[in-house]
Amino acid sequence: MRAALFLEAGAPLSIQEVEALPPGPDDVVVRVTATALCQTDVSVRAGKYSYGAPLIMGHEACGVIEAVGSAVEGVAVGDRVATSTAPCCGVCENCRGGRPHVCVLAQEVRKPMRARLADGSLAVGLYGLGSFAEQMTVNRASVVPLTTSLPDEQLALIGCGVTTGLGAVLNRADIRPGGSVAVIGCGAVGLAAIQGARIAGAETVIGIDPRGARRADALALGASLALEPGEGLVEAVLAATGGRGVDACIDGVGLPDTVQQAYAMTRQAGSVVIVGLPPQGTRYSFDAWPFFLSEKRISSSLFGSADIRRDFPRYARFAEEGRLNLAGLVSRTLTLDEVNEGLDALAAGEVLRAVIVPN
Ligand SMILES: [Zn+2]
Ligand SMILES: [Zn+2]
Repeated sequence: MRAALFLEAGAPLSIQEVEALPPGPDDVVVRVTATALCQTDVSVRAGKYSYGAPLIMGHEACGVIEAVGSAVEGVAVGDRVATSTAPCCGVCENCRGGRPHVCVLAQEVRKPMRARLADGSLAVGLYGLGSFAEQMTVNRASVVPLTTSLPDEQLALIGCGVTTGLGAVLNRADIRPGGSVAVIGCGAVGLAAIQGARIAGAETVIGIDPRGARRADALALGASLALEPGEGLVEAVLAATGGRGVDACIDGVGLPDTVQQAYAMTRQAGSVVIVGLPPQGTRYSFDAWPFFLSEKRISSSLFGSADIRRDFPRYARFAEEGRLNLAGLVSRTLTLDEVNEGLDALAAGEVLRAVIVPN
């Protein structure tokens, strides 16, 4: 099969013919029907996060099951599936305790070698996936079977970015009908968060982004107001919420400055949810007294705090019902050979999501 591999930090991904290794008893083989490019792929290619090499890239995907291991239950050859960066085994303490997004299999699924290169070296898949390929072999816990009418290019988005944004609002921020939400950063994740705010019934939804095109996207996808960051931002959010601040602010950037602003624009007993991962070693600081007295909550949301077996079918249904616009997040489709151009376009902010159709 053909796959796009990370070999060296900062170099273009290398598209090669590789030999897929046979699945283990808990694995499934998926023919990839669509895989989207995510900012994490850009960061890994640039060497910002290190997962070793060679590494089969790609992690936001959907496909069709082609083979199942001897111990696999609940999914069969021919099933349509979406993949997940966070596996869910369904039986570990975290899965049973209402925290399936931190399933204990998370590290285990990333370890197995999945393909042999022509030079004999062995490659793992990014996050235990590796979807920039015609086919991928993954742990059964990393896929969710779905019956949906969504086209592949849209279904693939549920595998990472859309779930991250929607889940930050629906699973982590406590939004009630009529509530208010601000979203800092209106890329694909932020735009999914804006749509999640609408789905949750929020009436005041504020998208914040320095790029005019992204502010226009925010308004098109459900924001009631779009603001440019800078001087007067917090005051503008306060003015839009009767001086109280928003019920929740989703910070898709996660830098000390944006977290500070998110905190300042959130009302008493409101919620700041950080979904953007800042550089390693970043520290946040805030005054203890106002924090104590305001009872504001600050948390992160990892992979949309998702229960993938519950949330993936639910998010697909939102899209089928027209409550979630996924088509508006797909800017371009590509072939596997165009993966590096797609990542360049994403890095330059020219696309929200570019989607590879590898087969
Ligand atoms: Zn991602
Ligand atoms: Zn588990």
